[in-house]
Amino acid sequence: MRIPFVAANWKMFKTIGEAVSYVAEFRGLVEGMSGAEVVLAPPFTAISAVMQAAAGTSIGVAGQDLYWERDGAFTGEVSAAMLREAGAGHVIIGHSERRTLFGETDANVNRKLRAARGGGLIPIVCIGETLEQREGGQTFQVLDRQIRNAVEGLGEADVRTMLVAYEPVWAIGTGRNATPAQAQEAHAHIRKRLADHFGAGMADLCRVIYGGSVKPGNIREISAQPDVDGALVGGASLDPKAFAEIVAGSMPRTV
Ligand code: PEP
Repeated sequence: MRIPFVAANWKMFKTIGEAVSYVAEFRGLVEGMSGAEVVLAPPFTAISAVMQAAAGTSIGVAGQDLYWERDGAFTGEVSAAMLREAGAGHVIIGHSERRTLFGETDANVNRKLRAARGGGLIPIVCIGETLEQREGGQTFQVLDRQIRNAVEGLGEADVRTMLVAYEPVWAIGTGRNATPAQAQEAHAHIRKRLADHFGAGMADLCRVIYGGSVKPGNIREISAQPDVDGALVGGASLDPKAFAEIVAGSMPRTV
């Protein structure tokens, strides 16, 4: 059985002080909820403080991005080793905001995936189609291309821990989530492709999580789909109460 995985992507929100206050409240709200893996992805500056504030709980911490080199003259970038040292166990790679606002390419996603593995981080690889691509009937082609390029040259052992986040671009931050049927269709397709690349065993174990306007009011329906293994949550994760409700709602298999 795949344990639901729920991650909060705080994007460029929360100072260190705000992040610590959040965790102080959130940890009490999720205490005793043991049916899901929960990870917070704060800005780089707050990773270490969030880690300390969550000490003694099973709440994990993720980076929102990384650079593929170990160190060097790369102003503004952060390496896998730096994230690990700060306390991160996971890293988000290829988020659509990185792709659309900062020119992240599929080839970069592949380099970052390799760097995450080399640096001992569990990657959360984001893929998803734009509205134009969906309306043009290209959703599966886009997902296939993104998966193929992300994992190019990698073997089953390299991606054993990887999570995939299906995040339709038209659903991110828009208030318009994919319907449960749309999510299930895309997730089942992604799992099929993972099986083509790495075998059915890996595809069965790999968690494919959904992202795009997840809220307390829609998480149950979405996560009840057989191929949806949790959620990557942006806006709604900024409020500890809302995110705790989402964590609770992500565990339909256990309630
Ligand atoms: C995200 O940024 O990954 C995301 C899913 O955002 P939101 O939940 O706000 O749509």
